[in-house]
Amino acid sequence: MKSGDFQNIKKLLLRRRAFLLKADHDIDKEIKDKAEYRHGDDADIAESAYEQEMAYLFKSRGQDEVRYIDEALKRITRGEYGQCAECGEKISSKRLAAQPYSILCIECQEATERTEQKNNSVFQQ
Ligand SMILES: [Zn+2]
Repeated sequence: MKSGDFQNIKKLLLRRRAFLLKADHDIDKEIKDKAEYRHGDDADIAESAYEQEMAYLFKSRGQDEVRYIDEALKRITRGEYGQCAECGEKISSKRLAAQPYSILCIECQEATERTEQKNNSVFQQ
């Protein structure tokens, strides 16, 4: 990949990052607003508890993605973008096109997901 391509990817990642942070902020606001107006019967309360749970789930996915994006941006700066963080192999351009924040090749990603399912943690430092 030419370094010019990285600039486009960087722009794309930064835009996505800004979008995710704004969405995260909006969700916080929505959760707070809903909490303030919460009253009514049990069904209402159950419904809003469910909505809140979904909002938190969405939030945590967004935060995970921001972490991936930060990592990908760091790798662009270091000139390591497009290489698997785990095995050092090239990540396929098809995979990067679908998920520009990928820092692992598909094999390592799948291996990580299997481990994650066991200990439920996205990033192990
Ligand atoms: Zn790999």
